[in-house]
Amino acid sequence: MRFSEFIGNKEAADRLRKQIINGKAFHAYIFDGAEGIGKRKLAYTFAQALMCKNSIDGEPCQICDACKKVVSGNHGDIHYITTDGSSIKDEQIEGLQEILFSKPFDGDRTVLIIDKADTMTVRAQNRLLKTLEEPVGGVTLILLTEKISELLPTITSRSIVIRLKPVEKEQIKEFLLRETETDELSAELAAAYSWGCPGKGKRLLDEEDFKARRARSIVSARAIVEKATLTEFMATLGEDISGKEAALEFMEMMSFWYKDLLFIANGMEKSYIVNQDHYEDLTEFCKKTNLKKICRILEKLEDTKYDIMMNVSINYALKNMYLEIN
Ligand SMILES: [Zn+2]
Repeated sequence: MRFSEFIGNKEAADRLRKQIINGKAFHAYIFDGAEGIGKRKLAYTFAQALMCKNSIDGEPCQICDACKKVVSGNHGDIHYITTDGSSIKDEQIEGLQEILFSKPFDGDRTVLIIDKADTMTVRAQNRLLKTLEEPVGGVTLILLTEKISELLPTITSRSIVIRLKPVEKEQIKEFLLRETETDELSAELAAAYSWGCPGKGKRLLDEEDFKARRARSIVSARAIVEKATLTEFMATLGEDISGKEAALEFMEMMSFWYKDLLFIANGMEKSYIVNQDHYEDLTEFCKKTNLKKICRILEKLEDTKYDIMMNVSINYALKNMYLEIN
């Protein structure tokens, strides 16, 4: 991949590309951002550019031996580790140290990518710190994190931090239409529900029940105001929102329904609507309710999401939400 092909976060990609042009790669980087935002892609692009024998304008050439090896996953001097179980353990970092002190296999540089680096145990972090305090020439370390705050400040302060921000919906939609065989509406929905992460958008398209989950969320969203009883409302929820993550996604989907109503009530164009295939339906629904109520429901949905995040029982949080709205 090239930096110019990276989806969103142009500033971050350019910053790295310029370091290649100037030949001034630092010894440690942290790429921080949500799951699916493209941290691994960016890390491998950077690694490829570092290894490339003929990089042009900071971009990997894609045709030299080194570039080809990176693409096929066979470059002997690029090492990747991730969690062993739920964390990265001290022994794994110990294993890396051996690589650090041996000569590169192919050229004059070694790249180490540590994925989910924020799960490193404190012992593992302390061991890694020693490496950062006495950097070995020709070694570039790339730590990928979702929660940079889990890293020791002594590690963060010795690294260049690249923060990856959520990508705009339109950019994700274009990417999905280009990279997959999906249709316009599915790309629109997956982009909207991806939380700004292209990788997550792609994964949603692969999930067979994504559309079914969304359809169920709409039934529940409508039930809040269509005079369903509490029991009827709870019955629309189904069993698959018993987990925290699934419940939060469900809440988010319901929020989209009400945000769409808000846009319609404010006379905004159809292109702003997420649930475009329900446009007529939403317009009709809008007549049955009012702006004040829509805003109130959105507020309660946000409160409920927060409660669920704070580990309040999902069942209790949803019942409470229904009763407060009605
Ligand atoms: Zn190359």
